[in-house]
Amino acid sequence: MSTQKVAIVTGAARGIGAGVAKRLAADGLAVAVLDLDAGACADTVSAITGDGGKAIAVGADVSKEESVKAAVEKVVEELGPPTVLVNNAGILRDNLLFKMSVDDWDAVLGVHLRGAFNMSKACQKHMVDAGWGRIVNLSSTSALGNRGQANYSAAKAGMQGFTKTLAIELGQFGVTANAIAPGFIATEMTAATAERVGVPFEDFKKAAAAEIPVQRTGLPEDIAHTASFFASEGAGFVSGQVIYVAGGPKD
Ligand code: NAP
Repeated sequence: MSTQKVAIVTGAARGIGAGVAKRLAADGLAVAVLDLDAGACADTVSAITGDGGKAIAVGADVSKEESVKAAVEKVVEELGPPTVLVNNAGILRDNLLFKMSVDDWDAVLGVHLRGAFNMSKACQKHMVDAGWGRIVNLSSTSALGNRGQANYSAAKAGMQGFTKTLAIELGQFGVTANAIAPGFIATEMTAATAERVGVPFEDFKKAAAAEIPVQRTGLPEDIAHTASFFASEGAGFVSGQVIYVAGGPKD
């Protein structure tokens, strides 16, 4: 077995996850590009292999324990034991509280929180065995509260508590856990929000940029850079932290 480190990035068919997967591959890791549909991962995988990196596509629903177990076994067989995990898969089901259905609540909590729990649980054994690991969880500025996102903001605040607990439990095994809380990042997720509120995406981005201190919206590469830092060897003394990557301060 090679000594190349193995990473799993969930929700990596597109958007932030694809950006993180490409960056970790460029950093020298073998990357399992995991998403609901393995076929949808083809673009990310070929971008990585085209640049001389190593990647495989893995289909799994992170909210389902059996699906996650099978996916992690596949990664172990094809790439080796995963010691870097980026819990990025996510969905939106926005609505004001009085209109939000129980299904919309459960779906969002299921992908973000149960998904991160399932993935972390399935991967931690490999990290503990290796005496080294890095878990990076995607939170959001919505963790601070956001109109129309009772489900999503609860999930993203939950990701922060989950991260801190993993840091406390797994630190003794050489495993760190940290969270990235992005602000506005231009992806299909934010494009879908623009469509839902009936604003052209370019106008939506322009309005958002005007409110951001650095006067631009974010890119998947901005998040990938932070994930690369958390996953790095040198970040071993950084654990249980939340970095807001939002073009300005948040609290
Ligand atoms: P995106 O473009 O919608 O990509 C999310 C990916 O996750 C999609 O490929 C989606 O697959 C996949 N996915 C959804 N449910 C899944 C499941 N159950 N199992 C496996 N994969 C699943 O979103 P993004 O903007 O890149 O966001 C990535 C992460 O960053 C999310 O956690 C999001 O909440 C967070 N975030 C984003 C922003 C932003 O401004 N974009 C800001 C803060 C935080 P399908 O296409 O098949 O649904």
